[in-house]
Amino acid sequence: MAYDPNNIFAKIIRGEAPCFKVYEDNSTIAFLDIMPQAEGHTLVIPKERAETIFDLSPDSAAALITTTQKVAAAVKQVTKSPGILLAQLNGAAAGQSVFHIHFHIIPRSSGIDLNLHARDKADFDKLKSLAAKISATLQ
Ligand code: AMP
Repeated sequence: MAYDPNNIFAKIIRGEAPCFKVYEDNSTIAFLDIMPQAEGHTLVIPKERAETIFDLSPDSAAALITTTQKVAAAVKQVTKSPGILLAQLNGAAAGQSVFHIHFHIIPRSSGIDLNLHARDKADFDKLKSLAAKISATLQ
């Protein structure tokens, strides 16, 4: 499947769609998932156009995991989560629903179940406040 330049993450990269941004550098952007599976669920994407891990250049792959590691540490600190789940889905058959590669950073605590994937929108005021805290931790 050819990369769709009008997917929602491509629009976020171009500034054509809003997001609750927590981090940006020359190669990557991280923002809160608006339908979080847990409080603090964050997505990290490369700016390079790539649908899946198999389409990504080695340089972008390196930048993506470096940002994921950095942002995951801030998410862990802000949410005070003992565990962090990283997930990355490739292809519809794997459950991918937005066709621009991304890592999910999902805080985990034992005994607390995850919300369903991409189901319910969170309160945007709460997301805004959480994004500000994670962003401040990364300064
Ligand atoms: P995946 O199924 O791995 O492709 O995950 C896509 C994720 O993007 C889901 O967890 C959605 O909740 C999330 N999502 C969809 N649209 C947006 C958006 N506009 N801003 C932030 N997250 C989004």
